[in-house]
Amino acid sequence: MQLASSGDVDLAVSAAQRALNGVWGETTPAERGRLLWRLADLIDEHADILRQLESLDVGKPVMETYVFDLPLTSDHFRYFAGWATKITGQSIPSSLPGEALCYTRHEPVGVVAAIVPWNFPLAIAAWKLAPALACGNAVILKPSEITPLTALYLGELMLEAGFPSGAVGILPGLGAVTGAALVEHAGVDKVSFTGSTRVGREIVQKAGGNFKRVTLELGGKSPNIILPDANISDAIGGAMTAMFFNQGEACVAGSRLYVPKALKADVLEQLATRAAGIVQGLSLDPATQMGPLVSQVQLERVLGFVERGVTAGATLVTGGSRNTSAGAGYFVQPTVFSAADDLELSREEIFGPVLTVLEYEDIDDLVTRANDSVYGLGAGVWTADVKTGIRIAHRLKAGTVWVNGWGMLEASMPWGGYKQSGIGREMGSYALQHYTEVKSVWVNLL
Ligand code: NAD
Repeated sequence: MQLASSGDVDLAVSAAQRALNGVWGETTPAERGRLLWRLADLIDEHADILRQLESLDVGKPVMETYVFDLPLTSDHFRYFAGWATKITGQSIPSSLPGEALCYTRHEPVGVVAAIVPWNFPLAIAAWKLAPALACGNAVILKPSEITPLTALYLGELMLEAGFPSGAVGILPGLGAVTGAALVEHAGVDKVSFTGSTRVGREIVQKAGGNFKRVTLELGGKSPNIILPDANISDAIGGAMTAMFFNQGEACVAGSRLYVPKALKADVLEQLATRAAGIVQGLSLDPATQMGPLVSQVQLERVLGFVERGVTAGATLVTGGSRNTSAGAGYFVQPTVFSAADDLELSREEIFGPVLTVLEYEDIDDLVTRANDSVYGLGAGVWTADVKTGIRIAHRLKAGTVWVNGWGMLEASMPWGGYKQSGIGREMGSYALQHYTEVKSVWVNLL
């Protein structure tokens, strides 16, 4: 694999700056919109190869890539294609003596470094590329070193779509080398990062030194709450998707499931039955419902959490081991624990198929417990009474709350985290403010 050095980062930044001062900087909003739309069409035309590459690289089931990652990616480019011609400032009346024309412009920030993780490589690249390019920025995309394939393929499609030289650079490389060089580079104006809270913290410290703009999408330990009046079958189905989608390697995995004490035994039994029924297999097999974890490192990390959970006194309800019968790969059985709030299992992001079930009796206490986390990415509430669901949704400290559902994402709805789950928002019109600088222009008319 080619790994970009810090010298390659210098070249990419110079190319991006030349593009901003040249053809890309002069491209009209309508033309930017057309390029993004053309790219979305090309992604759809190449969906078959893209979904196979993504599934092979990450290990995720090809059917999930087909229904989730690919449509989410092309939809993003179409949604922000529409925005390219609608990024407007304001005309503001002045009350100072004399006469002046006062207005604002929303200008591109400049060179954006987009650093993405390995769990949804293509979709998350689109979450950054689409708004950044719609606003007229030049972007250098650094995919994860373990899943670079679809980013590189996307680069080919961007050339075919007609993006001018330097508007987008794609630099596969190591986080500590390529990523760090981008974050520290004086010619990079903004870092848009999705990844672990640990690396996010490092980026804030490094980029803060020269006041780069930074947005962060980080980890989570999202609470999923079943209220006593919920339709239990729907809620358990939702809890399974919330936890085991993408092998549990999802920032917004619903990894803390809160259930009423009186229903706990029944819920655990149903979860165990459903978890045991999940079909694990190779990612390119259309029958596969859960693929292998992405790497040996991730396998050992996840099994380490399981082992420490058992030692700490959590009750293992089902799973908990490597699944060697699913094929040659880093398969971990869908795992369910019953545990207390203070255990590592209930507090740390595991990033694998390990669900922790926690019981409650009092709703107010439940909300306090659900909010007692350094993270605040997602949350869910299952109830027959939508009003109660909304009231609880408003009290939960999370960037996204689903009532009677989990995991719905759309280009038009903002996405991001409270607390240590991130800074800023991606998607929707909210993303645009993070890719523009506001300039006030005063024209003295006297
Ligand atoms: P990671 O932080 O290890 O790596 C993410 C990216 O940062 C990779 O491209 C990596 O090469 C790069 N990187 C690593 N060290 C760097 C450094 N010092 N400087 C600059 N770049 C560096 O994360 P990961 O293991 O790839 O992904 C898993 C994490 O991502 C989980 O914590 C998950 O919750 C989070 N995530 C969050 C969201 C969200 O939307 N909030 C979405 C997906 C994943």
